[in-house]
Amino acid sequence: ATPDFPQLFGHPRPLWMLFMTEFWERFAYYSLSWVLALYAVAQFYNGDPTGQGWASSIFGAYVALAFAFGVFGGYVADKIIGYQRSILLGAVVMSAGLFVLMIPSRDALLFGLAMVIVGDALFKPNISSMVGQLYPPGDERRDRGFTLFYMGINCGAFLAPIITGWMASYFTKTPLQQNFRIVFAAAGVGMLLSLLWFWFGRRGLRGVGRPAPGSESRMRVLQVVVGVAIAVPVTYLLLAKLGAVGLQWVMGVLFVGMVVVLIAEALRHDRVQLHRVIAMLIIFAFNVLFWVFYYLFGTTFNFLAENLVDRQMFGGWMFPVGWFQAMTPLWVVALAPVTALAWGWLAKRHKEPSIPRKFGLGLIFEGVGFISLIYALSHLIDPHGLIPFWPLAMCYLFQSVGELCLSPIGLSMVTKLAPPRLVGLGLGGWFLSTALGGNLSGMLASHISGATGMTAASALSGFTFCFYVLAGSGVLLLLISPLVNRLMHGVK
Ligand code: GLN
Repeated sequence: ATPDFPQLFGHPRPLWMLFMTEFWERFAYYSLSWVLALYAVAQFYNGDPTGQGWASSIFGAYVALAFAFGVFGGYVADKIIGYQRSILLGAVVMSAGLFVLMIPSRDALLFGLAMVIVGDALFKPNISSMVGQLYPPGDERRDRGFTLFYMGINCGAFLAPIITGWMASYFTKTPLQQNFRIVFAAAGVGMLLSLLWFWFGRRGLRGVGRPAPGSESRMRVLQVVVGVAIAVPVTYLLLAKLGAVGLQWVMGVLFVGMVVVLIAEALRHDRVQLHRVIAMLIIFAFNVLFWVFYYLFGTTFNFLAENLVDRQMFGGWMFPVGWFQAMTPLWVVALAPVTALAWGWLAKRHKEPSIPRKFGLGLIFEGVGFISLIYALSHLIDPHGLIPFWPLAMCYLFQSVGELCLSPIGLSMVTKLAPPRLVGLGLGGWFLSTALGGNLSGMLASHISGATGMTAASALSGFTFCFYVLAGSGVLLLLISPLVNRLMHGVK
């Protein structure tokens, strides 16, 4: 049963502790995210754009593996050591990995990333499920609790590039060479703060997320530590040896395996369950596409901001590259209430879009964002070969609206459509679809950069491709959404 928590601002008090723990973890994660590809090019290619291809594929693999391994992280918490211990262990491994990144060698970069991936996989899915565990079944504040938690995520994601982006350009030797290693240090400190927050705050959880009775033994923790000690070098090898195409194959095979198991289980039920699983898988396919273009923020959009955007502001002050990545979380926080109001307004008129329609709209909004970049690259290039600042900002704005259409409903959709015994696997499939998108995103960015680095021309043709794929798939999904809705049999 859920303990009787003291309330604070209308919610169980530990919600705010989880909020701050996740705030600092996202601060660390998004500090690394904005800097990773830029650092790889600066450090290992002396800033030469020929390094963009490799940097992009590493960024894609990092996103993909962090999401894909979350499935194992959830399993470890559920079945082996409980949520609290998984979170603590994950935080230790992740912050250590961030400090390893400060060592300027390729091996250290990949090994540090492997630690961050494994640590985050133990941390991120589990802190989210703890939010749900604070509310008794049927408590209608749970959704609002998740919304608040999502705000914490985005506040961390917002402040990360603002603070560390400023640090990178302030603590630098030459104006052109940013100090990226200080960003890793700041991220590591942020992650330690997350660890400390949870370490001292977990008493307030009153046993929620403690290991199940009979599984408290230290031996189990030792088993997981050994598992981590194996998983980190394996992940390092995946990053170093497998390559983006190989990784896509591995994850593709896992995805097909998940599809087979879900369909087999649905067949043991009835036609309705089978239809629901098919509807869910259709949505997964479109979800992959959304994240392919979304994760360009760490690669192509970064290279664009660094090399092709006029960042000179008033008084000669340069807008730090990293600050562009504060835009998405800023818009998400600012627009979340607006979208909630819009859906509410439409719902009152019985016109709230269905789940597949929201996904279709998400893809279309994301596609519309590319129009401003396409326009800028074909009409607004100045004599220095730069485009103005605002088209990229507009692109991020539309991307955020797209995110708000589909991201908040994804998880709850899965819990309603997956066969009851396999909800966990369904959630794993949802994360795996994001992972597939992340890795494909790295491959797309490598392609846009080519062997010699991104140019205005390659960006223009790349973004035109992005627009057509997004607009086309968004319209397609809107067209087939009546069918998908019928397959859902009343799930909303
Ligand atoms: N920005 C959100 C987070 O970091 C969601 C990202 C995602 O679902 N891919 O948690």
